[in-house]
Amino acid sequence: MSRDILVFGSVVDPFPVWRDALAAHLQEVDILEPEAVDDPQAVKYALVWKPPADFFAAYPNLELIINLGAGVDALVSRTDLPDVPITRISDPEMATMMAGYVQFSVLRYARDIPQFEKAQRSGQWHYLHPRDAGDIKVGVLGLGELGGCAARELARLGFDVRGWSRSEKKIDGVKTFNGMAALDGFLADSEISVVMLPATPETRQLLDANRLAQLPKGARLINVSRGEIIVEAALVEALRSGHIGGATLDVFEVEPLPESSPLWSMENVLITPHIASVAIPRSAARQIAENINRLRAGGSVRHRVDPARGY
Ligand code: NDP
Repeated sequence: MSRDILVFGSVVDPFPVWRDALAAHLQEVDILEPEAVDDPQAVKYALVWKPPADFFAAYPNLELIINLGAGVDALVSRTDLPDVPITRISDPEMATMMAGYVQFSVLRYARDIPQFEKAQRSGQWHYLHPRDAGDIKVGVLGLGELGGCAARELARLGFDVRGWSRSEKKIDGVKTFNGMAALDGFLADSEISVVMLPATPETRQLLDANRLAQLPKGARLINVSRGEIIVEAALVEALRSGHIGGATLDVFEVEPLPESSPLWSMENVLITPHIASVAIPRSAARQIAENINRLRAGGSVRHRVDPARGY
């Protein structure tokens, strides 16, 4: 009897690293790249990140698709998805890496670092008295695996943290709000906003000119989830007018960010190239293998994605 196969479909992730990390937990499954699969019928699992069009059609006995990352927007918007469960990576170490980026970005604003960097360039001793973190309201939009972890860590640093999600949530040290009706008030009360929402039909272009206008004057905005959630042209305008005092952007409507983007040359913008967090094979492989082993034992998989909901 042929062994089950996990096919790996990503051109950006290093196959040998993932194969070795997974093999340590999946002794009874062959882990192969598509060109090495000689029996497509034996392919039961697909670990993918943006695979080519019609990738899945080659594997008629697929039982599980695992998205090689936390953001599933590119996967669930495909038209060639077979009707099998989809899971995503759920990795505490990925959440820790993301929380680190968010803490850095929030602290940078809370401790006035951009002003000191500017002052240093002109040789000025520009004293600003540090503020109490508890007086600084930080709003985290999206309280999922990554957003929830970041909100907790910001609360641990002493900030006045509030979080917004679709359904009701309880997180120690975080004031929580949910639903569209609460959004405008939530934005109006956030001196620093952190966008950690998935890109879905409901969240794309959520932060348009009207919503950005709800933010308090001089607010800072950090986007680490998906560029499409903020209308970029409206953000540029708000940054130009000073209504938004600064933005830290890891994600953009178009990536790589085009050379022509006005964001590149704005002094109040910090740009990073979509590096806030990545899947870490050593730790993520354990969770992927656990799900496959649950399925092989006749159980149900965890961390399922709902394609209709979009995350
Ligand atoms: P999750 O799917 O675990 O959580 C999503 C959160 O957003 C949930 O709290 C959910 O609410 C909330 N949400 C979804 N839709 C709405 C809505 N319409 N209104 C209000 N709240 C909503 O996502 P993660 O925390 O794991 O990841 C967030 C995103 O980060 C990913 O989707 C991905 O795009 C991005 N990402 C970016 C990376 C980078 O390097 N820049 C790396 C990895 C991920 P509820 O809890 O009620 O369901």
